[in-house]
Amino acid sequence: AKDAGGDGYRTYDPSMHDALTRRLGLAADLRLAFEQDELVLHYQPKVDLRTGEIAGFEALVRWRHPARGMVPPLDFIGVAEATGLIVPLGRWVLTEACRQAVAWGRPLRMAVNLSVRQFEDGDVAGMVAEVLAETGMPPGQLCLEMTESVLLTDTDENLARIVSLKALGVVLAMDDFGTGYSSLAYLRRFPMDVLKIDRSFVDRLGGETEDEALVRTIVRLGQRFGMHTVAEGIENETQLAILREMGCDFAQGYLLSRPLPVGDATELLERGLPF
Ligand code: C2E
Ligand code: CA
Ligand code: CA
Ligand code: CA
Repeated sequence: AKDAGGDGYRTYDPSMHDALTRRLGLAADLRLAFEQDELVLHYQPKVDLRTGEIAGFEALVRWRHPARGMVPPLDFIGVAEATGLIVPLGRWVLTEACRQAVAWGRPLRMAVNLSVRQFEDGDVAGMVAEVLAETGMPPGQLCLEMTESVLLTDTDENLARIVSLKALGVVLAMDDFGTGYSSLAYLRRFPMDVLKIDRSFVDRLGGETEDEALVRTIVRLGQRFGMHTVAEGIENETQLAILREMGCDFAQGYLLSRPLPVGDATELLERGLPF
């Protein structure tokens, strides 16, 4: 049993033991899945709100489980982070996404999620530089999406990491913007290029005016600091119209397209979106 440890366990109960066993089982299965190529990437388009064109994609990992079907990342990214598997897994995601962007042969931006664990593992900029070289990906076409939690710990070292990544010429995005702490202070310190407005704010657009004011403020903040804004989780026309009117730069969401397997994403690129 674990006593008051860092992860908040206080008393032991059998259901917790079951949960731990399940987690360990999942960790082993995931490692095997990774080795047996059961992970796949889906690609969700980002649309330029001025032109209506597909400006790029976000790569999102899925586990194609032989028995359970498509397992969403929220069911296994946490375990991958806890076990450290996220480091090789994340490198694989980055490589695969860059290869695909190069294969499409268009000036599209490819966004890849970078977890805190990956960001803090050794020389992250060196790792990214290797992947860029291996795949022939132009640095300016790669966008790394990081959450604010990346900026919260060990700031000097992490600032150095951000600066090294910037020096490669890759684009840096602040993911889930507005959901973390100290967002404003960190924006002055860290040279981010893009703000991604979290889905929870977009969800509430069209209802309360306070929520609309909040999103509008984020868009203005982006403009003021010379950062692009991307809104995620757009599910209806009202949200899209409001964001366009606000001057938000890019939009991503089920209304425009769900994340797609590579074949469907390629088809969509050839056909274009109906907007
Ligand atoms: P995220 O980075 O915030 O990614 C956006 C999530 O919102 C994706 O969920 C996407 O499918 C979903 N989404 C997009 N549009 C809509 C919409 O209109 N409505 C709703 N309800 N959802 C929408 P997904 O693919 O399940 O990924 C969940 C999270 O898992 C991601 O959140 C990201 O934090 C993490 N993740 C996914 N792929 C990777 C990866 O390769 N590496 C790492 N480190 N994390 C990843
Ligand atoms: Ca993201
Ligand atoms: Ca989000
Ligand atoms: Ca997220």
